[in-house]
Amino acid sequence: MNLLGLDRKGLEGFFAEMGEKPFRASQILKWVHGRGVTDFEAMTDLSKALRARLADEAEVRVPEAVMDQNSEDGTRKWLLRLDGSNAIEAVLIPEKNRETLCISSQVGCALECSFCSTGYQGFNRNLSTAEIIGQLWYVNRILEREGEGRQVTNVVFMGMGEPLLNFKNVVPASELMKDDHAYGLSKRRVTLSTSGVIPYLDRLTEVSDVSLAVSLHAPNDELRNELVPINRKYPIAELLAACRRYIADKPHRSITWEYVMLDGVNDTDAHARELVDLLGDIPSKVNLIPFNPFPEAPYRRSSDARIRAFARILSDAGLVATTRKTRGDDIDGACGQLVGKVADRTRRQEKRARREQVTGA
Ligand code: SAH
Ligand code: SF4
Repeated sequence: MNLLGLDRKGLEGFFAEMGEKPFRASQILKWVHGRGVTDFEAMTDLSKALRARLADEAEVRVPEAVMDQNSEDGTRKWLLRLDGSNAIEAVLIPEKNRETLCISSQVGCALECSFCSTGYQGFNRNLSTAEIIGQLWYVNRILEREGEGRQVTNVVFMGMGEPLLNFKNVVPASELMKDDHAYGLSKRRVTLSTSGVIPYLDRLTEVSDVSLAVSLHAPNDELRNELVPINRKYPIAELLAACRRYIADKPHRSITWEYVMLDGVNDTDAHARELVDLLGDIPSKVNLIPFNPFPEAPYRRSSDARIRAFARILSDAGLVATTRKTRGDDIDGACGQLVGKVADRTRRQEKRARREQVTGA
């Protein structure tokens, strides 16, 4: 049993089975996540007997980085090894008053958004809760070691994978992030980004209060079907209704809509006006993301002037519109550029190569 991946509820269950009191959960959370201690012997507020039993029956297994890269703008990226052939990436984006960590939830992604490099890599498997929270655990230890009291202040599920398709492990990981004895991040500082898997979004509404970012990228179904193929299953009107439900009982909350800016594809004035009409009275923030290129991508980034004009139409209509600063692109650490090492089980790249051979594309 790897205790790194158990949230408070999970730990309480674990200790109940051992015949121990629930407060043991808080002790373990503080040691493991708060202080970074993995050796039960060093957990001095546990009895000697309990420490020995834990050493026998459990472990705290943490991730290992096989590569670490630094961008000129201060962004840092780690490649974390999982089992033999798989590895995932986590990216730290330092800013003046915060340290944002972008984490992965799956090895690759099973969805195939046409502008996303992760989608092109194919998919292998879900990350365990330990592998998800392990990214935060690891980066906090690095920051501690480097001194100056820096810690991760914000976490975004915007790395590799679709977090809602790994619901069962993502939810306990986000609970750990918010737990006062573990990382103590407020619900506003933990953001889940999704392409809109509605059934799981509705389940999230029941159990979680993290901030929600939704990858919209197009103001109508015809275009969104092409860019975000899962839209064919869960179209825009139903997605917006599920988003309204998500914030309905959460006062002062809004949805962040992510919108990648693709030159000549989704970035005209008409698209911007359509977007304004679509979002209507939903409490919204729109985050424009300049497209980050990768070798197979059939798109170009919209010009800065175009992005400014698009943002202007949104803000003139009363929407909060921001443009995401491109960070870490020199180390392929920007949005949509994470590839890790995916032992693809969908044979996506193979199939594409065959298709291209046939069509001569
Ligand atoms: N699967 C989730 C979260 C990971 S992607 C989702 O799709 O929301 C995080 C954000 O980066 C998403 O909004 C995604 O659409 C965007 N993105 C993907 N590829 C990109 C690219 N090449 N350039 C810019 N943004 C991209
Ligand atoms: Fe998957 Fe998100 Fe990339 Fe789409 S944008 S392929 S959902 S990681």
